[in-house]
Amino acid sequence: MKNPLRKQILITGGAGFIGSHLCERLLADGHDVICLDNFFTGAKDNIVHLLDNPHFELLRHDITFPLYIEVDQIFNLACPASPIHYQFDPVQTTKTSVHGAINMLGLAKRVKARIFQASTSEVYGDPQVHPQPESYCGHVNPIGPRSCYDEGKRCAETLFFDYHRQHQLEIKVARIFNTYGPRMHPNDGRVVSNFVVQALLGKPITIYGDGSQTRSFCYVDDLVEGFVRLMNSPADLTGPVNLGNPGEFTIRELAEKVVAMTGSKSELIFQPLPMDDPKQRRPDIGLAQQALGWKPQIALDEGLQKTIAYFADLLERGIIRSF
Ligand code: NAD
Ligand code: UDP
Ligand code: UDP
Repeated sequence: MKNPLRKQILITGGAGFIGSHLCERLLADGHDVICLDNFFTGAKDNIVHLLDNPHFELLRHDITFPLYIEVDQIFNLACPASPIHYQFDPVQTTKTSVHGAINMLGLAKRVKARIFQASTSEVYGDPQVHPQPESYCGHVNPIGPRSCYDEGKRCAETLFFDYHRQHQLEIKVARIFNTYGPRMHPNDGRVVSNFVVQALLGKPITIYGDGSQTRSFCYVDDLVEGFVRLMNSPADLTGPVNLGNPGEFTIRELAEKVVAMTGSKSELIFQPLPMDDPKQRRPDIGLAQQALGWKPQIALDEGLQKTIAYFADLLERGIIRSF
């Protein structure tokens, strides 16, 4: 007989960076995991170690197309997350966020599943309120190069709340701030992976602008713990809930830290700041602390050690040579 505590859980984008850690966590918690991915930015390598697990299933599918399966819970993570990748085919990015959300919400409605949305701090745009609480409506350019991602995610939030109000769906919306850790894509242009790989290869560290812009970096295990707590919270907690690490660093500080921790001889070089690059970003995590009893446990130095070790291993095995 099926264990009533064992849930059938769909993770879209499950072969990506965060998704692969979530697959591991939910299997460890005793659930059946269906990992769905179209492998646009994700990779089989991220989940290959799970393929022999009888409670794990891999499904190649694009969420912009309908999907008819039976599940108890859905984590909707499918969407390219780094600027290089989401700007590569911006129309597809918006379709993934919007058509993808409609399909996953339609599925959740039919099977009465609870559904979680991986939203983003980008809904705040280049914020004029600092740090950003969930009540801040954002400062977003609707027509710039980042808009396909930012507005796509904003529209997805709208759809989640309308399905909740109109069809009584149980929704959970997390606004994720910059997250890092093992299995970040080495070539996706995000700051932590770029700096670590550059430092390990002894290449110049590319700081965009003067490096005075700030970000807050959350280690992936802390984030996944927040996902699980939010998904299993009482039904009336819909979110949005900010999930991120409130420790705030300038990009220059991050560069100096990575160089020091890797013992690299890389020099810092300065390149133009991309358009609409937010000047500062730090989550207000008061709601997550109070409603979920959650706050990050892993400091930047500790998380960077683990991330550096991951990329050093890829280099040693010849998986990354240069980029
Ligand atoms: P990622 O690119 O590693 O993972 C996204 C996954 O979605 C990939 O495996 C990709 O192949 C898959 N995917 C993309 N389009 C798809 C489609 N149409 N159908 C099926 N699969 C598709 O990125 P990540 O960092 O793991 O991000 C996961 C989620 O978290 C994304 O929704 C992202 O927007 C959100 N998020 C991430 C961060 C961060 O700092 N990493 C911050 C805010 C929000
Ligand atoms: N959908 C899906 N799987 C399901 C149910 C629905 O992919 O199990 C998709 C379907 O493509 C539909 C969308 O979700 O267009 C929205 O479904 P909903 O029931 O909300 O709307 P409707 O079918 O009435 O357009
Ligand atoms: N950045 C940088 N050098 C790089 C990559 C990124 O200085 O090689 C900067 C980027 O301009 C931004 C910050 O680091 O100010 C975070 O960039 P990322 O793409 O990781 O995340 P996001 O801008 O989406 O927060």
